[in-house]
Parts: sequence; structure tokens; C-alpha cells
Amino acid sequence: MALEETLARMRRAEKEAGRAEGSVTLIAVSKVQPGERVEAVLDQGQRVFGENYVQEAGMKWPAWKARYPGVALHMIGPLQTNKAKVALDLFDAIHTVDRPSLAERLARLAGAKGSCPEVFVQVNTGEEPQKAGIAPAQTDEFVAACRMMDLPVVGLMCIPPEDEHPAPHFRMLADLAARNGLSGLSMGMSGDFETAILHGATHVRVGSAIFGARDYRR
Ligand SMILES: *Cc1c(COP(=O)(O)O)cnc(C)c1O
Repeated sequence: MALEETLARMRRAEKEAGRAEGSVTLIAVSKVQPGERVEAVLDQGQRVFGENYVQEAGMKWPAWKARYPGVALHMIGPLQTNKAKVALDLFDAIHTVDRPSLAERLARLAGAKGSCPEVFVQVNTGEEPQKAGIAPAQTDEFVAACRMMDLPVVGLMCIPPEDEHPAPHFRMLADLAARNGLSGLSMGMSGDFETAILHGATHVRVGSAIFGARDYRR
């Protein structure tokens, strides 16, 4: 099965990197996938999932969470400020905190609720104008600001440019995390998760390698 093969490839990469077996968390990215594919993966024991859209996740996951105890949901897509409240109730971690207005909204809502999902700060390592994320040079300041707001920042996240080798981006993210005292590194997708593990990823976000290609026409 594709899930087992992905996990086996992760374990091999951990070993090659001299890291403890099982130290990297697999986030199975289920966005847009048909329900039966997701249920097959739940039936195989996978419990950590990633979604990109608040509305889609809100329609699919409450029923699965009730049926499959122990599910953890990670938000990995762009988060609109006006969806922050729904996201706070739905997700266990948010990987895409990428601007002060979103951080401030999350902090305010989390303060009122008394709990907050784990936060990853998204860094635009390629400084691509069309891509979300904090610029590398602004990362230290932004992480400090999030901490001042009492947001539980656990790590950094990046999506390297499509047309570049990802390794320099993974290395940059690892350096930024280390100098900010952050242990979490959300990096690596279907095409490059082994490279990401070699560079210290703690969370890989893998969709199509597990579930097959996404069909956005559905
Ligand atoms: C869709 C998505 C993934 C998974 O991509 P695959 O190439 O299918 O593994 C990972 N991270 C983010 C941010 C995504 O949007």
C-alpha cells in the first residue's frame, strides 16, 4: 500500500540522516481526495491529516473524528483572517501563520477560548511575490512578536519554489528555526520528503504519494 511505502521511505530517510526511527511525523494531506481513499488510510491506522481549506475540512472531519479516535488535523493552506475562529475549533495545528493580522486574530481568539492549536510560522524562503509567508529577514522579529502574544509557536514551515532544488530552502528553514530556538520543521511533500528529512524535517506533508493524484474537477 502507498501509505506503508511512504512510511517505509520515511524510516529509511531517518536512518540515513542518523535520526531516531519514527521521529518524523507524517501528515497525510487529504485535501480534495475522495472520502473512500481517506477512509482506507484511516483504516490502516494513519491518524495525522492535513487540509488546505477550512470549509472543506469542516464538512469532512467532524464525522471521521467521531469514528476514528485520536485524529489530529493540521491546517496547511492559506488561512483567511475571517476563518480564524472556525480554524481554531477544527485544527490541532496551524502551519500557515504568515502575517501579523492573522497572528493577532488567532491570539485574541485563543485567549478568549483558553486554548490554541500549535503554530508554525510560514516562511517564504524563495521570496516569491505570489507566495505567502514571512520573508526570511523578518522571521526572527515575527516569531518574537508571536511569542509576545502568547501564541504557542512550535516551528517553521516552507514550500520551496517549484523550479528550484529544495535542499537550500530546507537548509535555510532549519537555520532560521535553530536560531529562534524552534524544534519543529514542517517541510517536504510527495516529491521531496526524503530530502526534507535529511535536512531535519520533523513534519512532512505528503498527499499524492499516499492517496494518488488529486482531481480538482470533482
Ligand atoms: C497539497 C499540499 C501538500 C501535499 O502535496 P503533494 O505533492 O500531493 O504531496 C503539501 N503541502 C502543502 C502546503 C500543500 O498545499
